[in-house]
Amino acid sequence: MAKILDGKAIAAEIQHEVAADVAALRARGIQPGLTVILAGEDPASQLYVRNKMRMCETLGIRSETITPPSTVTTEELLAIVARLNADDNVDGILVQLPLFKQVDSKRVLMAVDPAKDVDGFHPVSIGNLVTQRPGLVSCTPAGIIEILKRSGVTIAGARAVVVGRSDIVGKPVALLLLHENATVTICHSRTRDLPAVTHEADILIAALGQPEMITGDYIKPGAVVIDVGTSRIPDPSAPKGMRWAGDVHFPSASAVAGAITPVPGGVGPLTIVMLMVNTVKACRLRRGAPPA
Ligand code: NDP
Repeated sequence: MAKILDGKAIAAEIQHEVAADVAALRARGIQPGLTVILAGEDPASQLYVRNKMRMCETLGIRSETITPPSTVTTEELLAIVARLNADDNVDGILVQLPLFKQVDSKRVLMAVDPAKDVDGFHPVSIGNLVTQRPGLVSCTPAGIIEILKRSGVTIAGARAVVVGRSDIVGKPVALLLLHENATVTICHSRTRDLPAVTHEADILIAALGQPEMITGDYIKPGAVVIDVGTSRIPDPSAPKGMRWAGDVHFPSASAVAGAITPVPGGVGPLTIVMLMVNTVKACRLRRGAPPA
């Protein structure tokens, strides 16, 4: 059986470090601040934002949620973003997606000052990532690297295969693995003979949004498997008939892999804590405070 990589425990460890970092900054009169714009009707978004705000509170980060009415226009949201860009107390701006359907999400995201882009989605942030300049890296990919490093996985020289090429997960995690000196292959829906490619992987990142598609047959014995997928699927034996599922079929994969992240409790907890890390990092970079 594979070793379980406990994302909750790793996230708790990082949370502890961030709390100490925030305390040190506050002792110097600097309080990092995060503002979330919640301008959508997705109930899951509301839960995510509540969790983010709660973690800010726990860590001593100043937090604020702006909830414009459902009639808000793109121009009005751009005005809010402009005000937050200019506010020196705001270190991080997070635009929770999806936005109300009348809003041009791309324009709003592009308007966020890259120095405050704690989601790491702005093209300037992506450019900094590609060229390895200081900047803000999107939270889920950064969290995946933390899981690997803190679990003692050797990345340098490893064959890493990333299944999924989205701008928010697949591409940035592939770049981060490359910067850690892995030999990286990126797969997608047009990849021919996917199991043959994934079978090459010492480190396999599954970020395809296809519940439980990656079975044990896709995995090289002893490989490290990181399951990014989060889907709700029907399960008559689960409470309310639904349960969370990753992109990896855990029972067959864990019989072959050397180590594996569970869903839930793997990558998910890292995503939120890395947002806190980014808020503090943004604060230090923008306000010129030296690293901890
Ligand atoms: P996207 O839908 O944006 O991208 C999915 C990628 O997977 C695409 O590149 C697509 O290929 C590829 N793909 C889809 N089907 C197949 C297939 N059958 N074979 C090979 N490749 C395939 O998803 P995201 O990157 O946004 O998210 C991926 C998963 O991660 C989702 O389950 C999402 O919920 C989860 N997630 C979890 C987070 C967390 O905190 N735990 C955070 C973010 C996402 P193509 O480009 O060719 O279409």
